[in-house]
Amino acid sequence: MSLIVMKFGGSSVGTAERIKKVAERIIASKEQGNRCVVVVSAMGDTTDELIDLSNQLTDHPPAREMDMLLTTGEQISIALLAMAIQSFGHEAVSYTGWQAGMITEPVHAKARITDIRPDRVLASLDQGKIVIVAGFQGISGDGEITTLGRGGSDTTAVAMAAAIHADYCEIYTDVDGVYSTDPRIVKCARKLDQISYDEMLELANLGAAVLHPRAVEYAKHYDVQLVVRSSFNHNEGTQVKEEAEVEHGIVVKGIALDKNVARISILEVEDTPGILAKVFTSLAKEGINVDIIVQSGTLNGKADFSFTVSSADVGKALQVIENIRPEVSYREVTSEAGLAKVSIVGAGMVSNPGVAAKMFEVISGQNVNIQMVSTSDIKVSCVVAADRANDVIIALHSAYGLDTSEQAFVGGPKERR
Ligand code: ADP
Ligand code: ASP
Ligand code: MG
Repeated sequence: MSLIVMKFGGSSVGTAERIKKVAERIIASKEQGNRCVVVVSAMGDTTDELIDLSNQLTDHPPAREMDMLLTTGEQISIALLAMAIQSFGHEAVSYTGWQAGMITEPVHAKARITDIRPDRVLASLDQGKIVIVAGFQGISGDGEITTLGRGGSDTTAVAMAAAIHADYCEIYTDVDGVYSTDPRIVKCARKLDQISYDEMLELANLGAAVLHPRAVEYAKHYDVQLVVRSSFNHNEGTQVKEEAEVEHGIVVKGIALDKNVARISILEVEDTPGILAKVFTSLAKEGINVDIIVQSGTLNGKADFSFTVSSADVGKALQVIENIRPEVSYREVTSEAGLAKVSIVGAGMVSNPGVAAKMFEVISGQNVNIQMVSTSDIKVSCVVAADRANDVIIALHSAYGLDTSEQAFVGGPKERR
């Protein structure tokens, strides 16, 4: 008998029919003698639709009310799933994030979990019930409803698994594991039997939506056994663990894509000590994440520098830079949206010279201009035009010997924003 956390993403519970299928799957696990805590996301595209609704009312939806709105999505799916399970004659109870004891920092839209008090969850398990918990949501110390960032239900699941000392955590989604790249872009992507926490964290941080980065951080920190598999079939899935076996000859393990990249350039900045600190501290204070930073050489005491932010943050970032103009002297600020970051990831890269050079060659072979580059021991990222990113990924996947002869499993269409 195991204590397990099972998480089902939006497309897994997209319709009443799908909810029934998920209910049957959970019951099957219970009947094998397991104690089950289930975390669910909002149905299908509900979260996107709620965001669209708010945008019809205002250009600047207040963060507090946005969290109030978005958390309703998960509340619908937990209630429906509990009903479905009960209709099959099994006991189930649904809990919102706050009822399940998910305490977060007092931040809207991307709060971190600070504490979990799973008393009610454990008490219901002891009563023999299947416990259904709403993903992606929590409550701050001052009693405000918060959300964990897009895709955050994975984090709810892994954090809950750590808090109740579950034997393992299963992430059920619409693909049957973690692939070498998004199988929606590369049909012959390679399914990985296992991947290390560090490689998965890098891929997730670089845009691979299959797991929320914080979920991987949690799993690594609390040593949670994590499996990614499909709710549409019974295939084995991918284990995410401390050390994954290295497949002979494979240096690049995965390729990630982030299509929401924008570049901001500040031209002819007075090149004195403290200028970069001033700019980036001001951006950080507004919660804007800066990614790749490039500074050009100095000419006549002035330098140009460029950095990337997520497309959603461009307006706010430009405003911040305008606001500090009295303290930072520069000639002009420009910005460019419609960019994408393509990254290759692999723990073996550090000891294999020429991996980055090959990436640049492959991209230029596609006649695509590389606008920015950033590297670390286990990854190389290139910023390119978003509308050519898929071609680049397909070419890289083949060049690094990752193509397989099998067709990847993808459970139904999905529009990615
Ligand atoms: P869920 O709603 O179940 O949380 P997500 O859309 O968040 O599902 O994550 C699953 C999707 O992640 C897949 O449909 C796939 O398009 C995308 N994806 C991106 N990179 C990868 C990868 N390396 N392996 C598998 N899936 C990936
Ligand atoms: N419903 C939320 C989202 O769409 C959280 C999640 O699915 O994990 O981002
Ligand atoms: Mg997800």
